[in-house]
Amino acid sequence: MKLPSLTTEASGSAHVPAAAPSNFIRDIILEDQKTNKHGGQVQTRFPPEPNGYLHLGHAKSICLNFDLAAEFGGKTNLRFDDTNPSKEETEYVESIKDSVRWLGFDWEDRLFYASDYFDQLYAWAVQLTKGGKAYVDDLSADQMREYRGTLTAPGRDSPHRNRTAEENLQLLERMRAGEFADGSRTLRAKIDMASPNLNLRDPVMYRILHAEHHRTGSKWCIYPMYDFAHGQSDSIERITHSICTLEFEDHRPLYNWFIEQLEIFPSRQIEFDRLNLTYTLLSKRKLLQLVEEGRVRGWDDPRMPTISGIRRRGYTPEAIKNFCRAIGVSKTNGSIELAMLEHFVREDLNKRAPRVMAVLHPLKVIIDNYPENQVEEMEAVNNPEDPEAGSRKVPFSRELYIEQDDFREVPPKQYYRLSPGREVRLRYGYFVTCTGVTKNGRGEVVEVHCAYDPATRGGNSPPDGRKVKSTIHWVSAPHAIEAEVRVYENLFTKEDPDQVEAGQDFTANLNPRSLEILKGCKLEPSLEKSAPGSRFQFERLGYFCVDPDSRPGSLVFNRTVALKDTWTKIEKKSGK
Ligand code: ATP
Ligand code: MG
Repeated sequence: MKLPSLTTEASGSAHVPAAAPSNFIRDIILEDQKTNKHGGQVQTRFPPEPNGYLHLGHAKSICLNFDLAAEFGGKTNLRFDDTNPSKEETEYVESIKDSVRWLGFDWEDRLFYASDYFDQLYAWAVQLTKGGKAYVDDLSADQMREYRGTLTAPGRDSPHRNRTAEENLQLLERMRAGEFADGSRTLRAKIDMASPNLNLRDPVMYRILHAEHHRTGSKWCIYPMYDFAHGQSDSIERITHSICTLEFEDHRPLYNWFIEQLEIFPSRQIEFDRLNLTYTLLSKRKLLQLVEEGRVRGWDDPRMPTISGIRRRGYTPEAIKNFCRAIGVSKTNGSIELAMLEHFVREDLNKRAPRVMAVLHPLKVIIDNYPENQVEEMEAVNNPEDPEAGSRKVPFSRELYIEQDDFREVPPKQYYRLSPGREVRLRYGYFVTCTGVTKNGRGEVVEVHCAYDPATRGGNSPPDGRKVKSTIHWVSAPHAIEAEVRVYENLFTKEDPDQVEAGQDFTANLNPRSLEILKGCKLEPSLEKSAPGSRFQFERLGYFCVDPDSRPGSLVFNRTVALKDTWTKIEKKSGK
Protein backbone atom coordinates (compact mmCIF):
# COMPACT_ATOMS: atom_id res chain seq x y z
CA MET A 1 0.00 0.00 0.00
CA LYS A 2 1.40 3.35 -0.98
CA LEU A 3 0.83 6.01 1.63
CA PRO A 4 -0.42 9.32 0.35
CA SER A 5 1.35 12.37 1.66
CA LEU A 6 -0.68 13.90 4.42
CA THR A 7 -0.56 17.16 6.24
CA THR A 8 -0.92 17.26 9.99
CA GLU A 9 -3.19 19.80 11.48
CA ALA A 10 -3.88 21.26 14.83
CA SER A 11 -6.37 19.37 16.92
CA GLY A 12 -9.76 21.05 16.81
CA SER A 13 -9.89 21.61 13.12
CA ALA A 14 -11.90 19.07 11.20
CA HIS A 15 -10.68 19.93 7.74
CA VAL A 16 -9.52 17.27 5.41
CA PRO A 17 -5.98 17.52 4.11
CA ALA A 18 -6.09 18.91 0.61
CA ALA A 19 -4.32 15.82 -0.68
CA ALA A 20 -6.87 13.37 0.79
CA PRO A 21 -7.45 10.62 -1.73
CA SER A 22 -10.97 10.22 -3.03
CA ASN A 23 -13.12 7.25 -2.09
CA PHE A 24 -16.44 5.83 -3.22
CA ILE A 25 -18.43 7.63 -0.53
CA ARG A 26 -16.88 10.97 -1.43
CA ASP A 27 -17.62 10.21 -5.08
CA ILE A 28 -21.30 9.62 -4.24
CA ILE A 29 -21.42 12.99 -2.50
CA LEU A 30 -19.69 14.69 -5.44
CA GLU A 31 -22.30 13.17 -7.74
CA ASP A 32 -25.11 14.38 -5.44
CA GLN A 33 -23.62 17.86 -5.52
CA LYS A 34 -23.71 17.82 -9.30
CA THR A 35 -27.40 16.96 -9.34
CA ASN A 36 -28.04 19.38 -6.47
CA LYS A 37 -29.65 16.62 -4.40
CA HIS A 38 -30.89 17.99 -1.05
CA GLY A 39 -29.96 21.44 -2.36
CA GLY A 40 -26.29 20.48 -2.09
CA GLN A 41 -26.53 19.91 1.68
CA VAL A 42 -24.34 17.32 3.38
CA GLN A 43 -25.41 16.17 6.82
CA THR A 44 -23.79 13.15 8.50
CA ARG A 45 -23.91 11.63 11.98
CA PHE A 46 -21.84 9.42 14.22
CA PRO A 47 -24.28 7.04 15.98
CA PRO A 48 -22.64 5.06 18.80
CA GLU A 49 -24.59 2.76 21.04
CA PRO A 50 -23.60 3.73 24.60
CA ASN A 51 -22.75 0.18 25.68
CA GLY A 52 -18.98 0.48 25.91
CA TYR A 53 -16.02 2.75 25.27
CA LEU A 54 -15.11 3.80 21.74
CA HIS A 55 -12.30 1.97 19.97
CA LEU A 56 -10.09 2.50 16.93
CA GLY A 57 -12.83 1.19 14.63
CA HIS A 58 -15.09 3.97 15.83
CA ALA A 59 -12.28 6.44 15.17
CA LYS A 60 -12.39 5.43 11.53
CA SER A 61 -16.15 6.05 11.41
CA ILE A 62 -15.83 9.36 13.28
CA CYS A 63 -13.14 10.62 10.88
CA LEU A 64 -15.18 9.61 7.85
CA ASN A 65 -18.36 11.28 9.05
CA PHE A 66 -16.80 14.50 10.29
CA ASP A 67 -14.26 14.83 7.44
CA LEU A 68 -16.80 14.29 4.67
CA ALA A 69 -19.27 16.79 6.11
CA ALA A 70 -16.53 19.36 6.75
CA GLU A 71 -15.17 19.04 3.25
CA PHE A 72 -18.56 19.89 1.76
CA GLY A 73 -19.47 22.60 4.24
CA GLY A 74 -21.90 20.30 6.05
CA LYS A 75 -22.41 19.29 9.67
CA THR A 76 -22.09 16.11 11.72
CA ASN A 77 -24.37 15.13 14.58
CA LEU A 78 -23.44 13.01 17.54
CA ARG A 79 -26.35 10.68 18.17
CA PHE A 80 -26.55 8.07 20.87
CA ASP A 81 -28.32 5.03 19.54
CA ASP A 82 -29.79 4.24 22.93
CA THR A 83 -32.75 2.01 22.11
CA ASN A 84 -31.55 -0.93 24.20
CA PRO A 85 -32.32 -0.06 27.83
CA SER A 86 -30.59 -2.87 29.67
CA LYS A 87 -27.04 -2.36 28.40
CA GLU A 88 -26.64 1.36 28.28
CA GLU A 89 -25.05 3.53 30.89
CA THR A 90 -24.34 7.16 31.50
CA GLU A 91 -20.66 6.39 32.11
CA TYR A 92 -20.43 5.27 28.49
CA VAL A 93 -22.18 8.39 27.21
CA GLU A 94 -19.63 10.59 28.96
CA SER A 95 -16.63 8.58 27.82
CA ILE A 96 -17.87 8.63 24.22
CA LYS A 97 -18.28 12.41 24.22
CA ASP A 98 -14.85 12.76 25.74
CA SER A 99 -13.25 10.53 23.10
CA VAL A 100 -14.85 12.32 20.13
CA ARG A 101 -13.74 15.67 21.54
CA TRP A 102 -10.23 14.42 22.18
CA LEU A 103 -9.96 13.31 18.57
CA GLY A 104 -10.59 16.96 17.74
CA PHE A 105 -14.14 16.87 16.42
CA ASP A 106 -16.99 19.12 17.45
CA TRP A 107 -20.70 18.30 17.18
CA GLU A 108 -21.47 21.83 18.49
CA ASP A 109 -25.11 21.88 19.62
CA ARG A 110 -26.08 18.77 17.71
CA LEU A 111 -26.04 16.14 20.43
CA PHE A 112 -29.02 13.79 20.04
CA TYR A 113 -30.40 10.60 21.52
CA ALA A 114 -32.55 8.09 19.66
CA SER A 115 -34.53 7.89 22.90
CA ASP A 116 -35.59 11.52 22.34
CA TYR A 117 -37.50 10.23 19.34
CA PHE A 118 -39.46 7.50 21.14
CA ASP A 119 -42.73 9.48 20.89
CA GLN A 120 -42.29 10.13 17.18
CA LEU A 121 -41.28 6.52 16.53
CA TYR A 122 -44.36 5.28 18.34
CA ALA A 123 -46.54 7.66 16.34
CA TRP A 124 -45.08 6.21 13.14
CA ALA A 125 -45.66 2.68 14.41
CA VAL A 126 -49.32 3.60 14.97
CA GLN A 127 -49.49 5.10 11.48
CA LEU A 128 -48.15 1.90 9.88
CA THR A 129 -50.47 -0.24 11.99
CA LYS A 130 -53.50 1.80 10.97
CA GLY A 131 -52.45 1.56 7.35
CA GLY A 132 -52.22 -2.24 7.52
CA LYS A 133 -48.42 -2.16 7.21
CA ALA A 134 -47.69 -3.50 10.69
CA TYR A 135 -49.27 -6.10 12.96
CA VAL A 136 -49.02 -7.44 16.47
CA ASP A 137 -47.74 -10.98 16.61
CA ASP A 138 -48.03 -13.45 19.50
CA LEU A 139 -45.35 -15.85 18.30
CA SER A 140 -42.50 -16.46 20.73
CA ALA A 141 -38.94 -15.73 19.66
CA ASP A 142 -38.34 -19.44 18.98
CA GLN A 143 -41.51 -19.81 16.94
CA MET A 144 -40.70 -16.70 15.01
CA ARG A 145 -37.31 -18.13 14.10
CA GLU A 146 -38.99 -21.29 12.90
CA TYR A 147 -41.53 -19.40 10.79
CA ARG A 148 -38.83 -17.21 9.33
CA GLY A 149 -37.44 -19.87 6.99
CA THR A 150 -33.82 -19.92 5.81
CA LEU A 151 -31.71 -18.44 3.05
CA THR A 152 -32.93 -21.24 0.76
CA ALA A 153 -36.45 -21.81 2.10
CA PRO A 154 -39.14 -19.12 2.24
CA GLY A 155 -40.79 -18.25 5.55
CA ARG A 156 -44.38 -18.89 6.54
CA ASP A 157 -46.99 -16.35 7.54
CA SER A 158 -47.68 -16.08 11.25
CA PRO A 159 -51.21 -17.18 12.20
CA HIS A 160 -51.69 -13.62 13.58
CA ARG A 161 -50.63 -11.89 10.39
CA ASN A 162 -54.14 -11.14 9.23
CA ARG A 163 -55.55 -9.41 12.28
CA THR A 164 -57.55 -6.33 11.42
CA ALA A 165 -55.92 -2.94 11.64
CA GLU A 166 -58.25 -2.09 14.50
CA GLU A 167 -57.37 -5.18 16.51
CA ASN A 168 -53.64 -4.54 15.90
CA LEU A 169 -53.98 -0.97 17.07
CA GLN A 170 -55.69 -2.01 20.27
CA LEU A 171 -53.07 -4.65 20.97
CA LEU A 172 -50.27 -2.17 20.27
CA GLU A 173 -51.79 0.30 22.71
CA ARG A 174 -52.10 -2.42 25.34
CA MET A 175 -48.47 -3.43 24.72
CA ARG A 176 -47.49 0.13 25.38
CA ALA A 177 -49.69 0.31 28.47
CA GLY A 178 -47.72 -2.53 30.02
CA GLU A 179 -50.45 -5.19 29.95
CA PHE A 180 -48.26 -7.93 28.51
CA ALA A 181 -45.18 -9.77 29.71
CA ASP A 182 -41.73 -9.40 28.20
CA GLY A 183 -41.40 -11.39 25.00
CA SER A 184 -45.10 -12.29 24.77
CA ARG A 185 -45.86 -10.07 21.78
CA THR A 186 -44.10 -7.98 19.14
CA LEU A 187 -45.03 -5.42 16.55
CA ARG A 188 -43.90 -6.52 13.10
CA ALA A 189 -43.74 -4.81 9.74
CA LYS A 190 -45.98 -6.54 7.22
CA ILE A 191 -43.74 -6.97 4.20
CA ASP A 192 -43.12 -10.39 2.66
CA MET A 193 -42.42 -13.71 4.37
CA ALA A 194 -41.11 -15.12 1.09
CA SER A 195 -38.64 -12.36 0.37
CA PRO A 196 -35.17 -13.60 -0.55
CA ASN A 197 -33.89 -10.97 1.89
CA LEU A 198 -34.47 -12.29 5.42
CA ASN A 199 -34.57 -8.73 6.74
CA LEU A 200 -37.78 -8.17 4.80
CA ARG A 201 -39.60 -11.20 6.26
CA ASP A 202 -41.80 -9.17 8.54
CA PRO A 203 -39.04 -7.75 10.76
CA VAL A 204 -39.82 -6.91 14.37
CA MET A 205 -40.29 -3.19 15.00
CA TYR A 206 -41.10 -3.20 18.71
CA ARG A 207 -40.53 -5.64 21.54
CA ILE A 208 -41.83 -5.65 25.10
CA LEU A 209 -39.17 -5.01 27.74
CA HIS A 210 -40.10 -3.86 31.21
CA ALA A 211 -36.77 -2.18 31.89
CA GLU A 212 -35.55 1.20 33.09
CA HIS A 213 -33.95 3.36 30.45
CA HIS A 214 -31.04 5.68 31.33
CA ARG A 215 -32.95 8.66 29.94
CA THR A 216 -36.64 7.81 29.74
CA GLY A 217 -36.79 5.95 33.04
CA SER A 218 -39.87 3.74 33.25
CA LYS A 219 -41.92 5.72 30.73
CA TRP A 220 -41.68 2.93 28.16
CA CYS A 221 -42.02 -0.82 28.39
CA ILE A 222 -41.81 -1.33 24.64
CA TYR A 223 -38.64 -0.43 22.78
CA PRO A 224 -38.02 -0.03 19.03
CA MET A 225 -35.58 -2.39 17.32
CA TYR A 226 -32.45 -1.02 15.64
CA ASP A 227 -34.07 -1.24 12.20
CA PHE A 228 -37.06 0.81 13.28
CA ALA A 229 -35.00 3.40 15.13
CA HIS A 230 -31.81 4.03 13.25
CA GLY A 231 -33.14 4.99 9.84
CA GLN A 232 -36.03 6.92 11.34
CA SER A 233 -33.63 8.90 13.52
CA ASP A 234 -31.60 9.64 10.39
CA SER A 235 -34.72 11.01 8.70
CA ILE A 236 -35.70 13.11 11.70
CA GLU A 237 -32.24 14.69 11.68
CA ARG A 238 -32.32 15.05 7.88
CA ILE A 239 -29.14 13.03 7.51
CA THR A 240 -28.26 13.07 3.81
CA HIS A 241 -25.59 10.36 3.88
CA SER A 242 -25.97 7.71 6.55
CA ILE A 243 -22.63 5.94 6.61
CA CYS A 244 -22.43 2.57 8.34
CA THR A 245 -20.45 -0.65 8.24
CA LEU A 246 -20.91 -3.46 5.72
CA GLU A 247 -22.92 -5.81 7.93
CA PHE A 248 -25.88 -3.48 7.41
CA GLU A 249 -25.85 -3.81 3.63
CA ASP A 250 -28.68 -6.38 3.74
CA HIS A 251 -30.71 -4.06 5.94
CA ARG A 252 -30.72 -1.30 3.33
CA PRO A 253 -33.90 -2.48 1.53
CA LEU A 254 -35.71 -2.36 4.88
CA TYR A 255 -34.19 1.04 5.64
CA ASN A 256 -35.64 2.27 2.34
CA TRP A 257 -38.98 0.48 2.82
CA PHE A 258 -39.71 2.41 6.01
CA ILE A 259 -38.77 5.70 4.32
CA GLU A 260 -41.17 4.96 1.47
CA GLN A 261 -44.03 3.82 3.68
CA LEU A 262 -43.73 6.75 6.05
CA GLU A 263 -42.85 9.26 3.32
CA ILE A 264 -40.13 10.76 5.48
CA PHE A 265 -36.82 12.42 4.63
CA PRO A 266 -34.97 10.12 2.22
CA SER A 267 -31.66 9.58 3.98
CA ARG A 268 -29.31 7.35 2.00
CA GLN A 269 -27.49 4.51 3.69
CA ILE A 270 -23.96 3.82 2.42
CA GLU A 271 -21.87 0.95 3.75
CA PHE A 272 -18.08 0.74 4.18
CA ASP A 273 -15.62 -1.81 5.58
CA ARG A 274 -15.08 -2.21 9.31
CA LEU A 275 -11.59 -1.59 10.57
CA ASN A 276 -9.82 -4.76 11.68
CA LEU A 277 -6.27 -4.56 13.04
CA THR A 278 -3.81 -7.39 13.52
CA TYR A 279 -3.13 -8.45 17.14
CA THR A 280 -6.18 -6.42 18.16
CA LEU A 281 -9.85 -6.99 18.88
CA LEU A 282 -12.29 -4.25 17.95
CA SER A 283 -15.52 -5.35 19.53
CA LYS A 284 -17.06 -3.61 22.51
CA ARG A 285 -18.45 -6.90 23.78
CA LYS A 286 -15.03 -8.55 23.88
CA LEU A 287 -13.33 -5.46 25.28
CA LEU A 288 -15.96 -5.39 28.02
CA GLN A 289 -15.15 -9.01 28.80
CA LEU A 290 -11.46 -8.11 29.24
CA VAL A 291 -12.43 -5.34 31.64
CA GLU A 292 -14.94 -7.42 33.60
CA GLU A 293 -12.63 -10.41 33.95
CA GLY A 294 -9.82 -8.14 35.14
CA ARG A 295 -7.55 -9.12 32.24
CA VAL A 296 -6.64 -5.44 31.87
CA ARG A 297 -6.75 -2.58 34.34
CA GLY A 298 -9.86 -1.00 32.87
CA TRP A 299 -11.26 0.50 29.67
CA ASP A 300 -8.37 2.97 29.57
CA ASP A 301 -5.61 0.44 30.14
CA PRO A 302 -2.87 1.53 27.69
CA ARG A 303 -2.95 -1.93 26.08
CA MET A 304 -6.60 -1.51 25.09
CA PRO A 305 -7.50 -0.37 21.57
CA THR A 306 -10.03 2.02 23.07
CA ILE A 307 -9.62 5.74 22.40
CA SER A 308 -9.12 6.27 26.13
CA GLY A 309 -6.53 3.47 26.21
CA ILE A 310 -4.41 4.65 23.32
CA ARG A 311 -4.71 8.19 24.60
CA ARG A 312 -3.27 7.12 27.94
CA ARG A 313 -0.63 5.16 26.05
CA GLY A 314 0.53 8.42 24.42
CA TYR A 315 -0.92 8.17 20.90
CA THR A 316 -1.86 11.56 19.48
CA PRO A 317 -5.21 12.44 17.88
CA GLU A 318 -3.29 13.61 14.80
CA ALA A 319 -1.58 10.23 14.41
CA ILE A 320 -4.90 8.41 14.65
CA LYS A 321 -6.58 10.74 12.17
CA ASN A 322 -3.67 10.49 9.72
CA PHE A 323 -3.90 6.71 9.99
CA CYS A 324 -7.67 6.66 9.43
CA ARG A 325 -7.36 8.93 6.42
CA ALA A 326 -4.56 6.85 4.93
CA ILE A 327 -6.39 3.51 5.19
CA GLY A 328 -9.41 4.97 3.41
CA VAL A 329 -12.61 2.99 2.88
CA SER A 330 -13.61 0.08 0.71
CA LYS A 331 -16.45 -2.34 0.04
CA THR A 332 -14.66 -5.46 1.34
CA ASN A 333 -13.56 -6.25 4.87
CA GLY A 334 -9.85 -6.81 5.38
CA SER A 335 -7.24 -6.43 8.03
CA ILE A 336 -4.72 -3.64 8.57
CA GLU A 337 -1.28 -4.24 10.05
CA LEU A 338 -0.90 -2.87 13.57
CA ALA A 339 2.61 -1.84 12.45
CA MET A 340 1.01 0.66 10.09
CA LEU A 341 -0.82 2.39 12.93
CA GLU A 342 2.41 2.48 14.93
CA HIS A 343 4.17 3.98 11.94
CA PHE A 344 1.77 6.92 12.02
CA VAL A 345 2.26 7.30 15.77
CA ARG A 346 6.05 7.48 15.36
CA GLU A 347 5.80 9.80 12.42
CA ASP A 348 3.77 12.28 14.44
CA LEU A 349 5.71 11.94 17.70
CA ASN A 350 8.99 12.32 15.86
CA LYS A 351 7.95 15.87 15.03
CA ARG A 352 6.51 16.86 18.38
CA ALA A 353 8.18 14.84 21.16
CA PRO A 354 11.24 16.39 22.85
CA ARG A 355 14.27 14.11 23.23
CA VAL A 356 15.49 13.33 26.71
CA MET A 357 17.84 10.80 28.26
CA ALA A 358 16.51 8.02 30.47
CA VAL A 359 17.98 4.73 31.62
CA LEU A 360 15.51 1.89 32.08
CA HIS A 361 17.90 -0.84 33.27
CA PRO A 362 20.60 1.11 35.13
CA LEU A 363 24.25 0.15 35.45
CA LYS A 364 26.55 2.44 37.46
CA VAL A 365 29.55 4.02 35.70
CA ILE A 366 32.34 5.74 37.65
CA ILE A 367 34.70 8.04 35.80
CA ASP A 368 37.76 7.73 38.01
CA ASN A 369 39.70 10.64 36.52
CA TYR A 370 36.78 13.10 36.67
CA PRO A 371 37.03 15.53 39.62
CA GLU A 372 34.90 14.52 42.57
CA ASN A 373 32.05 17.01 43.26
CA GLN A 374 32.41 18.63 39.84
CA VAL A 375 29.22 19.10 37.86
CA GLU A 376 29.10 20.42 34.30
CA GLU A 377 25.95 21.56 32.56
CA MET A 378 25.99 20.05 29.09
CA GLU A 379 24.02 21.51 26.21
CA ALA A 380 21.51 19.02 24.75
CA VAL A 381 19.32 19.50 21.67
CA ASN A 382 15.60 19.16 22.44
CA ASN A 383 14.43 18.02 19.04
CA PRO A 384 16.57 17.84 15.92
CA GLU A 385 13.31 17.63 13.90
CA ASP A 386 12.08 20.93 15.26
CA PRO A 387 14.45 23.92 15.06
CA GLU A 388 12.12 25.91 17.34
CA ALA A 389 12.49 23.40 20.16
CA GLY A 390 15.84 24.80 21.34
CA SER A 391 18.12 23.11 23.83
CA ARG A 392 18.45 22.39 27.54
CA LYS A 393 21.17 21.77 30.11
CA VAL A 394 21.89 18.26 31.34
CA PRO A 395 24.18 17.77 34.36
CA PHE A 396 27.28 15.62 33.92
CA SER A 397 29.20 14.26 36.94
CA ARG A 398 31.68 11.60 38.03
CA GLU A 399 28.99 8.95 38.58
CA LEU A 400 26.50 8.09 35.88
CA TYR A 401 24.02 5.43 34.90
CA ILE A 402 24.01 3.73 31.53
CA GLU A 403 21.83 0.90 30.20
CA GLN A 404 22.95 -2.58 31.23
CA ASP A 405 22.69 -3.49 27.55
CA ASP A 406 25.28 -0.89 26.66
CA PHE A 407 28.03 -2.78 28.49
CA ARG A 408 29.43 -6.27 27.91
CA GLU A 409 32.36 -7.64 29.85
CA VAL A 410 32.98 -10.04 27.00
CA PRO A 411 31.66 -8.29 23.88
CA PRO A 412 30.23 -10.48 21.14
CA LYS A 413 31.33 -9.90 17.54
CA GLN A 414 30.10 -6.59 16.12
CA TYR A 415 29.27 -5.27 19.57
CA TYR A 416 30.67 -1.73 19.56
CA ARG A 417 29.32 -0.37 22.81
CA LEU A 418 31.21 -0.20 26.11
CA SER A 419 33.49 -3.09 27.10
CA PRO A 420 36.88 -3.31 28.82
CA GLY A 421 39.45 -1.27 26.86
CA ARG A 422 36.78 0.10 24.46
CA GLU A 423 36.12 3.84 23.99
CA VAL A 424 32.60 5.19 23.31
CA ARG A 425 30.93 8.58 23.16
CA LEU A 426 28.55 9.61 25.93
CA ARG A 427 26.00 11.71 24.07
CA TYR A 428 26.53 15.45 24.84
CA GLY A 429 29.14 14.31 27.43
CA TYR A 430 32.64 13.01 26.76
CA PHE A 431 34.47 10.12 25.17
CA VAL A 432 35.09 7.52 27.88
CA THR A 433 37.18 4.34 27.88
CA CYS A 434 36.35 1.39 30.11
CA THR A 435 39.21 0.63 32.50
CA GLY A 436 37.69 -2.10 34.64
CA VAL A 437 34.71 -3.39 36.58
CA THR A 438 33.63 -4.06 40.17
CA LYS A 439 31.69 -7.27 40.83
CA ASN A 440 29.45 -8.39 43.65
CA GLY A 441 29.67 -11.68 45.53
CA ARG A 442 27.78 -13.48 42.75
CA GLY A 443 30.28 -12.36 40.16
CA GLU A 444 27.93 -9.85 38.54
CA VAL A 445 29.24 -6.51 37.30
CA VAL A 446 27.82 -3.77 39.54
CA GLU A 447 30.09 -0.88 38.55
CA VAL A 448 31.94 -0.03 35.39
CA HIS A 449 35.06 2.11 35.73
CA CYS A 450 36.03 4.53 33.00
CA ALA A 451 38.50 7.28 32.16
CA TYR A 452 37.30 10.32 30.22
CA ASP A 453 39.12 12.50 27.71
CA PRO A 454 38.69 16.19 28.67
CA ALA A 455 39.40 17.16 25.03
CA THR A 456 36.03 15.68 23.96
CA ARG A 457 33.68 17.96 25.92
CA GLY A 458 30.12 17.93 24.59
CA GLY A 459 30.79 14.56 23.01
CA ASN A 460 32.85 16.17 20.23
CA SER A 461 35.68 14.37 18.48
CA PRO A 462 39.14 15.12 19.91
CA PRO A 463 41.76 17.17 18.00
CA ASP A 464 43.61 13.99 17.00
CA GLY A 465 40.55 12.97 14.96
CA ARG A 466 40.08 9.73 16.92
CA LYS A 467 36.75 8.08 16.14
CA VAL A 468 34.43 5.84 18.15
CA LYS A 469 31.89 3.43 16.78
CA SER A 470 29.18 3.96 19.33
CA THR A 471 27.28 6.74 21.10
CA ILE A 472 25.33 5.84 24.20
CA HIS A 473 23.01 7.75 26.50
CA TRP A 474 23.44 8.25 30.24
CA VAL A 475 22.03 10.01 33.29
CA SER A 476 24.08 11.66 36.06
CA ALA A 477 23.61 9.46 39.16
CA PRO A 478 23.36 12.14 41.88
CA HIS A 479 20.93 14.17 39.74
CA ALA A 480 18.77 11.32 38.42
CA ILE A 481 15.12 11.18 39.28
CA GLU A 482 13.58 7.78 39.72
CA ALA A 483 10.50 6.64 37.88
CA GLU A 484 8.38 3.63 37.14
CA VAL A 485 8.16 2.76 33.47
CA ARG A 486 5.46 0.49 32.05
CA VAL A 487 6.52 -1.26 28.90
CA TYR A 488 3.77 -2.69 26.70
CA GLU A 489 3.73 -5.36 24.06
CA ASN A 490 0.78 -6.49 21.92
CA LEU A 491 -2.17 -7.57 24.03
CA PHE A 492 -2.57 -10.73 21.93
CA THR A 493 -0.01 -13.15 20.61
CA LYS A 494 -1.94 -14.07 17.46
CA GLU A 495 -2.47 -11.85 14.43
CA ASP A 496 -6.10 -12.88 14.61
CA PRO A 497 -6.92 -13.11 18.32
CA ASP A 498 -10.19 -14.87 17.50
CA GLN A 499 -8.35 -17.85 16.08
CA VAL A 500 -8.60 -20.43 18.87
CA GLU A 501 -8.82 -24.16 19.51
CA ALA A 502 -12.24 -25.70 20.12
CA GLY A 503 -13.53 -24.92 23.60
CA GLN A 504 -11.36 -21.81 24.02
CA ASP A 505 -12.20 -18.17 23.61
CA PHE A 506 -10.02 -15.25 22.53
CA THR A 507 -8.61 -14.84 26.04
CA ALA A 508 -6.49 -17.95 25.31
CA ASN A 509 -4.49 -15.69 23.00
CA LEU A 510 -3.75 -13.00 25.56
CA ASN A 511 -0.04 -12.18 25.68
CA PRO A 512 1.26 -12.91 29.20
CA ARG A 513 4.07 -10.43 28.54
CA SER A 514 1.90 -7.52 27.40
CA LEU A 515 2.88 -5.47 30.46
CA GLU A 516 6.31 -5.22 32.08
CA ILE A 517 6.69 -2.84 35.01
CA LEU A 518 10.18 -1.43 35.49
CA LYS A 519 10.87 0.24 38.81
CA GLY A 520 13.90 2.36 39.66
CA CYS A 521 14.44 3.74 36.18
CA LYS A 522 16.77 6.78 36.09
CA LEU A 523 15.69 9.93 34.28
CA GLU A 524 17.46 13.20 33.56
CA PRO A 525 16.32 15.89 36.03
CA SER A 526 14.57 18.06 33.40
CA LEU A 527 11.70 15.56 33.55
CA GLU A 528 10.99 16.13 37.21
CA LYS A 529 7.95 18.36 36.79
CA SER A 530 6.46 16.82 33.66
CA ALA A 531 2.68 16.70 33.72
CA PRO A 532 0.53 13.66 32.96
CA GLY A 533 0.04 13.31 29.23
CA SER A 534 3.43 14.85 28.32
CA ARG A 535 5.18 12.90 25.61
CA PHE A 536 8.92 12.39 25.13
CA GLN A 537 11.36 10.44 23.09
CA PHE A 538 13.75 8.65 25.44
CA GLU A 539 16.83 8.64 23.24
CA ARG A 540 17.50 5.26 21.62
CA LEU A 541 14.57 3.65 23.50
CA GLY A 542 11.29 4.86 22.12
CA TYR A 543 8.45 7.25 22.81
CA PHE A 544 7.09 7.51 26.33
CA CYS A 545 4.43 9.56 28.05
CA VAL A 546 3.59 10.47 31.61
CA ASP A 547 0.77 8.36 33.06
CA PRO A 548 -2.03 9.91 35.14
CA ASP A 549 -0.96 7.59 37.98
CA SER A 550 2.05 9.90 38.47
CA ARG A 551 2.35 11.83 41.73
CA PRO A 552 4.82 14.58 42.57
CA GLY A 553 8.06 12.79 43.37
CA SER A 554 6.94 9.46 41.89
CA LEU A 555 6.60 9.63 38.15
CA VAL A 556 5.07 6.85 36.09
CA PHE A 557 5.71 6.58 32.34
CA ASN A 558 4.08 4.48 29.66
CA ARG A 559 6.02 3.31 26.66
CA THR A 560 3.93 4.52 23.73
CA VAL A 561 5.90 2.75 21.04
CA ALA A 562 9.47 1.56 20.47
CA LEU A 563 11.63 3.42 17.97
CA LYS A 564 12.04 0.76 15.33
CA ASP A 565 9.59 1.17 12.49
CA THR A 566 8.67 -2.17 10.97
CA TRP A 567 6.01 -0.80 8.66
CA THR A 568 8.30 0.47 5.92
CA LYS A 569 9.82 -3.01 5.77
CA ILE A 570 6.44 -4.76 5.61
CA GLU A 571 5.40 -2.35 2.90
CA LYS A 572 8.49 -3.16 0.83
CA LYS A 573 8.26 -6.90 1.37
CA SER A 574 4.65 -7.09 0.28
CA GLY A 575 5.49 -4.96 -2.75
CA LYS A 576 2.43 -2.82 -2.20
P1 ATP B 1 -18.96 -3.15 18.34
O1 ATP B 1 -19.08 -4.37 17.49
O2 ATP B 1 -17.58 -2.86 18.78
O3 ATP B 1 -19.95 -3.11 19.46
P2 ATP B 1 -20.79 -1.51 16.95
O4 ATP B 1 -20.84 -1.40 15.47
O5 ATP B 1 -21.84 -2.32 17.61
O6 ATP B 1 -19.34 -1.96 17.36
P3 ATP B 1 -21.78 1.09 17.50
O7 ATP B 1 -21.70 1.85 18.75
O8 ATP B 1 -23.08 0.59 17.05
O9 ATP B 1 -20.75 -0.11 17.63
O10 ATP B 1 -21.04 1.88 16.33
C1 ATP B 1 -21.13 3.26 16.08
C2 ATP B 1 -20.62 3.49 14.69
O11 ATP B 1 -19.27 3.08 14.57
C3 ATP B 1 -21.42 2.69 13.68
O12 ATP B 1 -21.70 3.51 12.57
C4 ATP B 1 -20.50 1.56 13.32
O13 ATP B 1 -20.76 1.11 12.03
C5 ATP B 1 -19.11 2.20 13.48
N1 ATP B 1 -18.11 1.19 13.79
C6 ATP B 1 -18.11 0.32 14.82
N2 ATP B 1 -17.05 -0.50 14.75
C7 ATP B 1 -16.35 -0.15 13.65
C8 ATP B 1 -15.16 -0.61 13.02
N3 ATP B 1 -14.45 -1.63 13.52
N4 ATP B 1 -14.74 0.01 11.90
C9 ATP B 1 -15.43 1.04 11.40
N5 ATP B 1 -16.56 1.53 11.93
C10 ATP B 1 -17.03 0.95 13.04
MG1 MG C 1 -23.80 -2.08 17.78
